[in-house]
Amino acid sequence: MQTESFDLVVLGAGSAGVRAARMAAQQGLRVAVAENSRVGGTCVIRGCVPKKLLMMASQFADQCEDARGFGWRMAAPPTHHWPDLVAAVGAEVTRLEGVYHQLLADAGVALVDGRARLAGSGLVQVGGRLLAAPNIVVATGAQPLRPTLPGAERGITSDDCFTLPQRPQRLLVVGGGFIALEFAGIFQRLGSQVVLAHRGAWPLRGFDDDVRQHLAAELQAGGLDARWSTQPQALEALADGRLRVALMHASGTSTQETFDQVLLATGRQPATQGLGLEAAGVQLGAAGQVLVDAQSRSSAPGIWAVGDCTNRLNLTPVALREGHALANLLAGGPALALDYRNVPQAVFSQPPVAAVGHTEDSARQAFGAVQVFRTAFKPMRATLSGRAERVLMKLVVRPDTHQVVGAHMVGADAPEIMQGLAIAVNAGLTKAQFDATLGLHPTAAEEFVTMRQPVA
Ligand code: NDP
Repeated sequence: MQTESFDLVVLGAGSAGVRAARMAAQQGLRVAVAENSRVGGTCVIRGCVPKKLLMMASQFADQCEDARGFGWRMAAPPTHHWPDLVAAVGAEVTRLEGVYHQLLADAGVALVDGRARLAGSGLVQVGGRLLAAPNIVVATGAQPLRPTLPGAERGITSDDCFTLPQRPQRLLVVGGGFIALEFAGIFQRLGSQVVLAHRGAWPLRGFDDDVRQHLAAELQAGGLDARWSTQPQALEALADGRLRVALMHASGTSTQETFDQVLLATGRQPATQGLGLEAAGVQLGAAGQVLVDAQSRSSAPGIWAVGDCTNRLNLTPVALREGHALANLLAGGPALALDYRNVPQAVFSQPPVAAVGHTEDSARQAFGAVQVFRTAFKPMRATLSGRAERVLMKLVVRPDTHQVVGAHMVGADAPEIMQGLAIAVNAGLTKAQFDATLGLHPTAAEEFVTMRQPVA
């Protein structure tokens, strides 16, 4: 087998891998990137982008209902055609995949089609090709993790949601994290009967407790059949193709219910198997993640890892930054710091959640005491729509420096609002500086600069 020489070989053409490859090539390195699936990775092909489009599609349901309160009359209730949506989203994903191909080509990156495997020091085998490079970057991402319960293989995962030939009439969503909440909202608004079963008492572990409780109440108020402290025991296939699920409740009682589909949204695991990592001396953590230092260096010389396969903070903008920082390091470009504090996060549930910085609890642990400013109100749109809906906003302030160290919101446009607030929190602005900023009236966002009284 003839060896092809590069300065850098990247495994995986997702957000982290493509960014690392492009940035390194633009700085003069000869780069190859190996990909065994579609170019674009989770975010573009089966994650953020198509999920957001599905979410946008599902929001029209509420908008049509709300329109009545504003004087609109619909001749007939609107109906939704799922295959049209799947086709439109699929076409957009294909367009974006083409953009990614072009970006790689324009940067002069060689795209190698096939599954890559480390094949000795500085060597990567992809099908019948052998690529040699002094530096190798693992950017293979993560994949859905099914829970260990009988019949789990009969459930679908988020990967499948973008290509279902039909929208399930009755859907069980298992989990209470990002993916479970986002897809529960999408399918519910598109017209499916959705049951969300989560083993915890509240959704979104790791988020602020007020946010979690407020969201739980809002999901119920929005008509989602959310069952907290509930665990599936087994998935059994019925003759008609549906699934019977035994659901165990915290009370110790169990019920049997039938669903068209069961979406298992119980977490993701780093995609690090079958790459020859251990044989190459790359240490993996308990979840299978590549263990790396602050510069994304693995335990094996010349092997680096970025993105979800390192299980640091599994978000696209973080993966992009990790890839870019590593490219600069390897190509001798300007150092780019990786700072995992104050990374804004959003869950595109309905209503959406967004946050940046400390929760009240984590601030209390970090600083001993905190000041909390909180408001909950009926949004203006709900006055005429009649929808039972409340927005929550919360600021967490460090009492010794008066800096706003956390901002949280549940409600329409929370992610759009939080991006701007993240600049202020990241810059370390004080509550007085928030107060000195005039509101933008009439918006929900102005409440973030008009909360005057701390919570007792
Ligand atoms: P999460 O870790 O967010 O959620 C997993 C959920 O499954 C939790 O509620 C967890 O419960 C529950 N769970 C785990 N194991 C079991 C089990 N055996 N039985 C029942 N329930 C179980 O993972 P996701 O897959 O939703 O998302 C993965 C990551 O991807 C996210 O953490 C995020 O980093 C990223 N992501 C980001 C998005 C965004 O930015 N909008 C969107 C989608 C994903 P418990 O809390 O009790 O552990």
